[in-house]
Amino acid sequence: MTARLIEKTPSADAYPLLIKNILRTPLQYAPDQEIVYRDQMRYTYRDLNRRIHKLANMLAAAGVKPGDTVAVMDWDSHRYLECFFAVPMMGAVLHTINIRLSPEQLLYTINHAEDDVILVFSEFLPMLDAIKDQIKTVKKFILLTDAEQPETSLSLAGEYEAMLAGADDHYDFPDLDENTMATTFYTTGTTGLPKGVFYSHRQIMLHTYGLMSGICIYKSQLTLDSADVYMPITPMFHVHAWGVPYLCTMIGTKQVYPGRYEPEMLLKLLLTEKVTFSHCVPTILHMLVSSPAVKNFDLSNWKVIIGGSAMSKGLCKASLDLGINVTSAYGMSETCPLLTAANMKPHMLDWDADKQVAIRCKTGLPVPNVNLEILDPNGQPLPHDGQSAGEVVVRTPWLTQGYVKDPEKSEELWKDGWLHTGDVGIIDTDGYLQITDRMKDVIKTGGEWISSLELEDIISQHEAVSEAAVIGVPDDKWGERPLTLVVLKPDYADKVTGEDLKKFYTAFVENGTIPKYGVPDRVVITDQIAKTSVGKINKKEIRTQYRS
Ligand code: AMP
Repeated sequence: MTARLIEKTPSADAYPLLIKNILRTPLQYAPDQEIVYRDQMRYTYRDLNRRIHKLANMLAAAGVKPGDTVAVMDWDSHRYLECFFAVPMMGAVLHTINIRLSPEQLLYTINHAEDDVILVFSEFLPMLDAIKDQIKTVKKFILLTDAEQPETSLSLAGEYEAMLAGADDHYDFPDLDENTMATTFYTTGTTGLPKGVFYSHRQIMLHTYGLMSGICIYKSQLTLDSADVYMPITPMFHVHAWGVPYLCTMIGTKQVYPGRYEPEMLLKLLLTEKVTFSHCVPTILHMLVSSPAVKNFDLSNWKVIIGGSAMSKGLCKASLDLGINVTSAYGMSETCPLLTAANMKPHMLDWDADKQVAIRCKTGLPVPNVNLEILDPNGQPLPHDGQSAGEVVVRTPWLTQGYVKDPEKSEELWKDGWLHTGDVGIIDTDGYLQITDRMKDVIKTGGEWISSLELEDIISQHEAVSEAAVIGVPDDKWGERPLTLVVLKPDYADKVTGEDLKKFYTAFVENGTIPKYGVPDRVVITDQIAKTSVGKINKKEIRTQYRS
């Protein structure tokens, strides 16, 4: 029997899934709802819509055409939100630049993405000043600023607000093919050079609905709805702030953008704007929860999704004690990002606090339309018995379809038609995933990646080093911190200390190879480094040895 495809009358509209359609609903439901930027700017969804049209006209006047790449370097701001819409809606590609990369990586991503225009916040001008002679494709730089014009050696095309003011407030956004590329950005969560991921309009739309069904619909411990007040505390350059700005715009919630993350500003906005919903990595929540000032505030209306790294039970309890409703979610740059959320099932909602902590800290249940499995080394699915551990692989409509200009790594990512996360996990009999380990040789510290292979490569260049291994060790504040183990060459025994070796890393910070947070806290000199049966460095074993 052959399945029957639908027949379409010639005049029927296929209605492509396009980002521009997100904007229609809030203009009907909540046109006067507010969007706030720090204590500097406050406007309505009507204004947002008008400014998106103006931005498209301004970019077109600056020479941006469909297919061009427009990059942004900014903290979380209303301007970034405007770019989330205007750039892809024109048919151009939004490149959200990770401003925490080392200068070398930053330059690599700008050239690799072939950026045509960069919108840069004043604070990041020195980063571009330092590499400007090596930037290859950028034709225009546009200044984003909260204050007066700063010093720079870059030739700027103009300042955002001034250019917007002069732009027309109607732009005829085209009906693009839904598979048009909308966004791109780079992840350092794999080994080697940063890798570019990319998402189409269709994928971002489907992710928006997936996110909605994952965090808005279940009767569970944490749900978001249109009456919430949203403030991201995840960078907008990191997987579109986990896609939540698209969802919150669709449902017309009040949105508050905090700019640079400063604890006082965050707490002030939380209280004065009555923020009820945020998301962040554990490090940020830890910073807020352990700030002495927090005791003076009532945070009992605040719901926070924690992702990017595992939430510890200690952090979860400390947050719940302050009245903060926390729960975990999981995803990655390659997955747009949402895959799972630690939603409690209805019968768990009456459980006592301790039992609930265990669920809130789980990696979570796959959200609707996510097909997630754990595989053994032969690619066979493992039972969901709470014991069998295997690599987490996924299929959903919103996964990057490869890495930019890297066919080999793209095929590795998509081996056998599953996206391989590089995470190891178990699935329990209730269906909850728990990430237990990582196959990829990268360390996540404060939400940012550092490659252990790169840190090994650097230390191996020291004349005294015979062998080295770098692992991530758990850290209450940063999630993980790098730790280097070194076996010295016999001639150097007792002549070189761990501190000397640590200093060796700082030269590589100064020349831009690694960011400052990449310098390991400790370099431990040891007699031998554990190996696997085939003689590879046994990171799993070393991680267990040095966990505490
Ligand atoms: P990124 O691509 O920077 O978003 O990092 C994604 C990676 O962060 C995942 O592959 C995991 O290794 C880790 N990760 C994200 N969320 C969680 C979580 N809830 N629990 C444990 N690890 C996580």
